[in-house]
Amino acid sequence: MIRIIQIAIEFAPIIKVGGLGDMVSSLAKNLSKHHQVEVVIPYFPYISMHLPQQVLSKKTFSYFFLGKQEATAVSYQNDQLILTCIELVSQQELFNSPSVYTKDDVLKFCAFSAAATEYLYQNKPVDIIHLHDWHVGIIPGLIKSQSLTNFQPKCVFTIHNFDYQGVCNTQTLAASTISPDQLQKYTTQQDPQKANLMQGAIACSDYITTVSPSYAQEILKNTKNKELQKKLCEKSTIFSGILNGIDTTIWDPETDPALESHYSQQLLSQPQLLKKQKHRNKQALYHQLNISHSINSPCLCIISRLEEQKGLQFMKWAMLHAMENNYTFVLIGTSLNHDIQQQFANLQTVVNHSPNIRIILKYDETLARRTYAAADMICIPSLFEPCGLTQLIAMRYGTVPIARATGGLADTVIPKVNGFTFSQAQEISHTLSEALHVYFNHPKQWELLIAHGMTALFDASSMAQHYVDIYQQLSSLC
Ligand code: ADP
Repeated sequence: MIRIIQIAIEFAPIIKVGGLGDMVSSLAKNLSKHHQVEVVIPYFPYISMHLPQQVLSKKTFSYFFLGKQEATAVSYQNDQLILTCIELVSQQELFNSPSVYTKDDVLKFCAFSAAATEYLYQNKPVDIIHLHDWHVGIIPGLIKSQSLTNFQPKCVFTIHNFDYQGVCNTQTLAASTISPDQLQKYTTQQDPQKANLMQGAIACSDYITTVSPSYAQEILKNTKNKELQKKLCEKSTIFSGILNGIDTTIWDPETDPALESHYSQQLLSQPQLLKKQKHRNKQALYHQLNISHSINSPCLCIISRLEEQKGLQFMKWAMLHAMENNYTFVLIGTSLNHDIQQQFANLQTVVNHSPNIRIILKYDETLARRTYAAADMICIPSLFEPCGLTQLIAMRYGTVPIARATGGLADTVIPKVNGFTFSQAQEISHTLSEALHVYFNHPKQWELLIAHGMTALFDASSMAQHYVDIYQQLSSLC
């Protein structure tokens, strides 16, 4: 049995902004079936009502970040794993923002990381510390700074998005107990006043992963930040892409409480019945969103953060395609970027009285689940996509993905087998038309696309097994 601590900012459903939260909780849950697992997250005031009931322990301790500080760690029993929430008692103001991500993220996440590292020291022994994304990227450097202690667990660092790196002044990192040697690994050559949390985490970790094999190859060649790319290439022998999987007990159209009508793979042998169940969900969604279009025409959805990465222009083209071809289009999304949010709010005002086009600008998990079940197709036109979970969830809900062939989308959406793909901008319209053609003219082929998607094995247990192999390999090196 391996003793594993996962440290991240998101843990679904307690704190979730996107796929990071889904991945951390599904990985931890699967690992906890056979290993000792604890997940450490920061405490935000608005998560208190979502925390588990059963408190296992409460510890108050000091940590160092911009001077000596006080924190409290409350551990809960969360199914088979321990969930620990760390509250920065003397730096509470850092976590008082209404949303998880804000402008001062480096400062607040470094403060949390400093407290989490101190918590780790006090709670040895542990074999593996698994860190997710740049937010907690200072932790491997802090652990390696303590070379005189016998606390030297192996660190695994997972890159969930290579574009978000945590660039800041070196002074911010120097506010912790990081040693000058380790700080050097975070400092950029281009500007010695600047540090890059992802760069340091890559340099100080014992193994690095990202969330799909194709994305791993893409970022090894990504020259947007040449210095970082070089650092990653230097570590290529201890770097790999492991495809994310979804928790099939949480994303299950047979039991999902949000759905009007339940169905499962078993109905694949009775396609008319499966269609009927999906139609019931479509009817309920149309009623909720006041869509007056016939349920016999196809419904295309998009469920996404509205950020450049996600292919905003393509989303608008998909909407135009639905308008021109008279089928239903439902977009559910939000943006942290005020201008983008405004752009889509303007579009919303124009289209929301139409019979078949809806734009819903909010984060709404229940509506998202209903839409996965009701839609016939989902469009995921990302410019780049580390893994992407929406195509995996959609497939499980019998909804056919139409995706840009990049990163994890290219690894999971297989053209004409379980979905449709395109690469160039000008191809999106053609690909949507191709999908409509199959939908209307080749129903048997459409049923096969659904069947391949619903039975595909993109589940969290295979992902967890890959991570266990890495943990075991590292533990044997101890
Ligand atoms: P990313 O992590 O880049 O946002 P992923 O595809 O990996 O993208 O994961 C997105 C997750 O967030 C999925 O679980 C999806 O259902 C959910 N999601 C995205 N936008 C919304 C929204 N507006 N409301 C509800 N869920 C959303």
